[in-house]
Amino acid sequence: MHELSIVMSIIRIAETESAKNNAIKVEEIELEIGDLSGIEITAFDFAWQQAVRSTLLEHSKRKINHIPGEGQCMDCAAVFPMQQLYEPCPVCGEHFVSVQKGKELRVKSLVVN
Ligand SMILES: [Zn+2]
Repeated sequence: MHELSIVMSIIRIAETESAKNNAIKVEEIELEIGDLSGIEITAFDFAWQQAVRSTLLEHSKRKINHIPGEGQCMDCAAVFPMQQLYEPCPVCGEHFVSVQKGKELRVKSLVVN
């Protein structure tokens, strides 16, 4: 499952950062997940519940910032909100669109203890 491997890599990041700070647990973790990142939040949540057991993220407060999709037309330079990838430009109908926002998937901050 795609989401599980993402959760595993987030856990690895948290473990590495905590080790650097001699921390034994993560109080809070803040994630940024773009709406165009391909992550299914329900599946992500399920994978999270399973994967964080017995890790230092088990009792962490988790915040998720959703980043809405935004594209820019390569032809007419219009900037517009994107609900999904491969959406054509609403102004000229062109398909050469560069995704400006919404593909983010990162750990924004960690509070360790
Ligand atoms: Zn356009």
